Amino acid sequence: MTAHATETDIDRVRQKIESLGFRAHIMPGAQKTAIGITGNPGPIDPAEFEDLPGVAEAIRVSKPYKLVSREVKSEDSIINVRGVPVGGPELVFCGGPCSVESREQILESARAVKAAGGQLLRGGAYKPRTSPYSFQGLGEEGLKLLAEAREATGLGIVTEAIDVETFELVEEYADCVQIGARNMQNFSLLRRAGRSRKPILLKRGMSSTLEEFLMAAEYVLSEGNYQVILCERGVRTFTDHTRNTLDLSVVPAVQGLSHLPIIVDPSHGTGKRDKVHPMALASIAAGASGLLVEVHPTPDRALSDGYQSLYPEQFLEVVKDCRAIAALLAHRRNRQQAYA
Ligand code: PEP
Ligand code: MN
Repeated sequence: MTAHATETDIDRVRQKIESLGFRAHIMPGAQKTAIGITGNPGPIDPAEFEDLPGVAEAIRVSKPYKLVSREVKSEDSIINVRGVPVGGPELVFCGGPCSVESREQILESARAVKAAGGQLLRGGAYKPRTSPYSFQGLGEEGLKLLAEAREATGLGIVTEAIDVETFELVEEYADCVQIGARNMQNFSLLRRAGRSRKPILLKRGMSSTLEEFLMAAEYVLSEGNYQVILCERGVRTFTDHTRNTLDLSVVPAVQGLSHLPIIVDPSHGTGKRDKVHPMALASIAAGASGLLVEVHPTPDRALSDGYQSLYPEQFLEVVKDCRAIAALLAHRRNRQQAYA
């Protein structure tokens, strides 16, 4: 739609799409509203829409992913997580432990994240673990502790849902629901996330291509939830000096193809505490909108992922140095946003 299109213009287009038996996806942007169409079995003649008032242009999307593509929406999407804009000019730092372990642990983590200048708190209450004998998370008790930490600090909560059965409970407490790497192609979970009113943090599968990653996001948008944040967290390769290989070139690649914001998780992306700071800096230099970082008050005693978790003072350094990198490269970031 044009920047001057009215609500009535937008609604007229929606009605027209629905009268044809298709689904209209209305995605407002800072300047213009984009309207995607799905459910059409074949091509639609753009002329059907081009002459309606307020329509700037009607485009056939050439990519297999439709709603996530820049063809449908040229402006960057900014996802609001409890008042924190993700994908805007400000970097977003989401820190916290891999798992919620106790009241003391999560409150201490939350205070440390806040003191370092982080805006969001992460922590898993339901954990996808390789071994069924490893700590599986505190479940609802963990969600309640996260809510307490939010109450105490004002930080928004990012926490993972690992299955459809517990999704409703997780979304009740979370400000943003994480879908983990192992579940990136759990299509029923993605569809459930698409029916949620909470933003979704979608992590890249450990062996997924860029197209598979964007198609997974498309599942969520196709159900009507347009609030998706993508997260690169490393992929499996032959290297053994790190747990995963952080694929930072996916950041500009995503930005070229999609309007969705992308952040980076250098904790799972490296699996080693001493590699987190350098790769965090590289992520921001590559243009990421923010970071997801594991932080623990006593990493040596963590019940999961302690070896990759930062001490609070290390997280503070990460935030400070990343902001310095972003300030140095502000001219580039602004140019990218203007280009979008
Ligand atoms: C996590 O964030 O703790 C996690 C399990 O991440 P991933 O799904 O990327 O492995
Ligand atoms: Mn973890």
